[in-house]
Amino acid sequence: MQRNAKNDVILYQSAQLLDLGVIHAVTTRHGGVSPAPFDTMNLSAHVGDTSERVQENLERLHNALGLDRAATVDASQAQANQVARVTANERGTRIRNVDGLITNARGVNLMLRFADCVPILLYDPTHHAIGLAHAGWRGTVSKVLTNTVNEMRAAFETAPNDLIACIGPSIGPCCYEIGAEVRENVERAFPETFELLLRQNGSVHLDLWQANATQLRALGVRQIEIAGVCTADHTDDFYSWRREHAQTGRFAALIALS
Ligand SMILES: [Zn+2]
Repeated sequence: MQRNAKNDVILYQSAQLLDLGVIHAVTTRHGGVSPAPFDTMNLSAHVGDTSERVQENLERLHNALGLDRAATVDASQAQANQVARVTANERGTRIRNVDGLITNARGVNLMLRFADCVPILLYDPTHHAIGLAHAGWRGTVSKVLTNTVNEMRAAFETAPNDLIACIGPSIGPCCYEIGAEVRENVERAFPETFELLLRQNGSVHLDLWQANATQLRALGVRQIEIAGVCTADHTDDFYSWRREHAQTGRFAALIALS
């Protein structure tokens, strides 16, 4: 992904998705009005920041992308694997307890929030459909990304080999030390490949990027872009729940058909 500026708003974007006309971004800390520890572009009203500032930040983000805020659909994320198909009827609403959103409706923006978890943006250029997933370790081992792609196949006849996937900035294998519970879940969820997903050097680290890319490859997805940007190493650009000891904001991933 490339780091682009729209006025004061700094966004990470995929060159391939931009070329194909897909409106999208992973946001950063830059371009908003919130004070520390939410400085400055915090997009969640549930972390201690004021609703007024979050609304202003959302306004600035939508303006930077040329999108209508009233058309955005988000979710109360559950660190699980449920996926919702969104239509124009859901514009401006929050879907409860899902971590994946899909649509083929123009004029509907899909948005999810992050601070270390993995954002995955999906585009089917044949059927003009999009998807967005939020995968922390729980969503990764319960395979929210697999479910999101499968929902696109069922709803839009998306062929995995047509699908373009972008795995955005999130905590990297460099910084994501895990304990026994997570390790056991990874071994159970990925029995063939868990050794590739765990880096052991005194402590055990999980590679969430590859754990999600593995799911895509198993489905037949070939076009996979991995940003490779670790949020815990780049708190100048991103909120990191782990590095900032939970006292931080949320950035967003957003995708819309043009
Ligand atoms: Zn790192």
